[in-house]
Amino acid sequence: MQGVVFLGNRQAAVKEFPVPEPAPDEVLVRVMATGICGSDLSVYRMAEGHPDQIRGHEPSGVIEAVGALVGQRRPGDRVSVHHHQGCGACRMCARGETVACAHDQCIGVAVPGSFAQYLCVKERNCVVLPEVVSYIDGAFMACVGGTAWGAYQRLGARGHESVAVFGLGPVGLSCVLVGKALGLRVIGVDVTDERLDLATRCGADVVVPAAEGGVPARIHQAVGARDGRDGVDYAIETSGSTAARECLIPSLRRGGKAAIVGVGSVERVVNPSDIHGRAVTILGSVVFPLGWMWDLARFCEVSGLSFEPAVTHRLPLEEAVEGLRLADEAKDCGKVVFLPHG
Ligand SMILES: [Zn+2]
Ligand SMILES: [Zn+2]
Repeated sequence: MQGVVFLGNRQAAVKEFPVPEPAPDEVLVRVMATGICGSDLSVYRMAEGHPDQIRGHEPSGVIEAVGALVGQRRPGDRVSVHHHQGCGACRMCARGETVACAHDQCIGVAVPGSFAQYLCVKERNCVVLPEVVSYIDGAFMACVGGTAWGAYQRLGARGHESVAVFGLGPVGLSCVLVGKALGLRVIGVDVTDERLDLATRCGADVVVPAAEGGVPARIHQAVGARDGRDGVDYAIETSGSTAARECLIPSLRRGGKAAIVGVGSVERVVNPSDIHGRAVTILGSVVFPLGWMWDLARFCEVSGLSFEPAVTHRLPLEEAVEGLRLADEAKDCGKVVFLPHG
């Protein structure tokens, strides 16, 4: 089978690997869709290469075979796979927070990843996709889409409210799509015109070009506030940039909530007096517990939410080198998805 490896310094290769055999508690997944994520790109940019490690951690596909101890999943099940496998036996895993497990076996990092035609994963990480949910949506649920969903769950967002999404890469676009499906008024903010256009395509009610400045005032205007007296109920920061983070508190209404989702700047930008003065909540949101992925699968089914409007490129695995280059340059590029079986 084909698998994609990173050779260091933005070089990648498609290599031949044997189809893996599932361990007793694992299933073999025929990968039908898998997305390129920002965290793949940070490894792709590193100087050091790993020519034997298959990357990718957003798998969705169909179960082909199951290990001897597998009891619930069966061949033919269409599944999305949560990328943090955890040990399954600690307190964090019991809470579904496999991302925080000290013995986490992250797909594409600790074990072979999903930029491949097949991979083996723990049965417990496989969430069955409702019939109406596509494999591409399953790939989103496995990481970026689930991360967007997780931010809204932690914020406690409800349908009549408003949200400003800072950064309109794949995670930000997923936040736009989930926000609309939840019924919120969504304002997208980015420095790039192409990404603002993508956000509009994903249903953003208003887009704000950050390059023009005055972002909080424009956000206030978009929700009908005047003189800085009111703002959005929620803000989600996905860009990791200092400039965006500085806009969070001034954009929120009094008592609003902001979620920091993007990895990036380490500068201290939040003044505790502002948190107090405007009575806002700032929280961190990292990935999502396994159980929330089950909820997201159901939400996609009942709401009709699809992440596909965020996809700009669908490529076979043979074109992985080109796909990675596109996603790395990020010009007029939303989500890049590989379809390893066409
Ligand atoms: Zn990811
Ligand atoms: Zn654990």
